Amino acid sequence: MSMDEKGKKMKELKRCPFCGGEVTIAEAGDYLTSWMFITRGNGKNGCKCRAFMESKPYSFNCSAVDKEKIKKDLIEAWNKRYKED
Ligand SMILES: [Zn+2]
Repeated sequence: MSMDEKGKKMKELKRCPFCGGEVTIAEAGDYLTSWMFITRGNGKNGCKCRAFMESKPYSFNCSAVDKEKIKKDLIEAWNKRYKED
């Protein structure tokens, strides 16, 4: 699992609801706007789907606290997709 700067364990992302593979959070963007998004995991158990996944844009001057909130929202939105049994 990834850890944030304070060493707290991040809320866990559930597996892909379509294939059961692992997913991860990544960031991309240019110097003005960035996006945080959920994407396929890199490991051998990573999700293989090309499904649309949650993403959220944020400004380049977004604070670390705001980014943590975005990440938390993304994880919550993603986890709602996954239905246990
Ligand atoms: Zn998948």
